[in-house]
Amino acid sequence: MGHFKNFKVTVYCVAEILNRMDLKTLEEQYDFIEKYVGIDKVYLEPFRGPVLVDRNKIRTVTDFFRSRGVEVSGGMTTVCPPLTEEDRKKQRLFGTLCYTNKGMRDHIKKISEYTAELFDEVILDDFYFTNCTCEECIRAKGDRSWTDFRRDLMKDVSENLIVGPARKVNPNVKMIIKFPNWRESYHATGYRPDVEKDIFDRVYTGTETRASAYQDQHLPTYLSYSLVRWMDEASDGRNQGTWFDTYQCWPVDDYLEQGYLSAFAKPEEITLFQWTDLFENKLVTPLGLQFKRIDRMLDKAGKPVGIPAYIPHASEGENHIEDFLGMQGIALNPTPKFPEKGSVLLTESSLCDPDVFGKLKDFLVKD
Ligand SMILES: [Zn+2]
Repeated sequence: MGHFKNFKVTVYCVAEILNRMDLKTLEEQYDFIEKYVGIDKVYLEPFRGPVLVDRNKIRTVTDFFRSRGVEVSGGMTTVCPPLTEEDRKKQRLFGTLCYTNKGMRDHIKKISEYTAELFDEVILDDFYFTNCTCEECIRAKGDRSWTDFRRDLMKDVSENLIVGPARKVNPNVKMIIKFPNWRESYHATGYRPDVEKDIFDRVYTGTETRASAYQDQHLPTYLSYSLVRWMDEASDGRNQGTWFDTYQCWPVDDYLEQGYLSAFAKPEEITLFQWTDLFENKLVTPLGLQFKRIDRMLDKAGKPVGIPAYIPHASEGENHIEDFLGMQGIALNPTPKFPEKGSVLLTESSLCDPDVFGKLKDFLVKD
């Protein structure tokens, strides 16, 4: 039995932390997070950047959690340090990979195989994009736009370097792709929920809205709800969870509200990033209490409903207007599927669908 009836609480543990974790510290931190939140499941990450956690360490930590009735799955983060002197010249935001480079392609394929050997479920953290503009990428791009080039490139990477190799070493592995909180720029950096939802088994949504007024993205808090709804629509109901962290959250309500809105979007799991950031963090101490209250409300709540806001794949324009309206109390359900009947909100983003006027005409005539 989990701690809550309507969702599982999961905690993500990054490779660097796992690598230096001893069992005594792990137990002390587990007791704290279990007491103040309640842990149903963990994602253990064998790889992030320069760190690769040894198999034995992963097994020891896995045994620790299983002995306490906690489910264990795996995670990986697709960033790496320069592998050669040439790599130092590549501009790679946050250490994301150059996916035209053979060395990096081989490297990430091995990492995917390694992680799939260890776990039957693997989630990718949202550094799975590319913005590399090195000479190799310019040559490979040819006459295509960067957007078109990266869309083709990341489909190939998903099929042939990540999911394909993982399934070869572990036919039972379930692969999950987590999408970041910046939907309006997915297409520019190779993220493709329209095809990746079918390459991967499940999808996951970043709901980190943080302190909207102060932090650099200025995301309306409603996004912690609305992006999950969009992703669930986009993946035909295969969004597994939501994910937020403790960063740039002040006051404490900015942290907690990410949790409430994530829960109202009805995910199966709510993931807290990441293990050591939760320990002895005053933001986290009320979370279990608040989750209990939200859980009771969800017992009585049905399916999330709202006016469909038509936000097609690979679209941008008047970004987050649906979220600002949501903050005003208007219930919206963003979706990349033009609704069949009822009402629809069209924004500048809807215009990125060249057929939008035809669809609107049919919609009005029918209704
Ligand atoms: Zn490159």
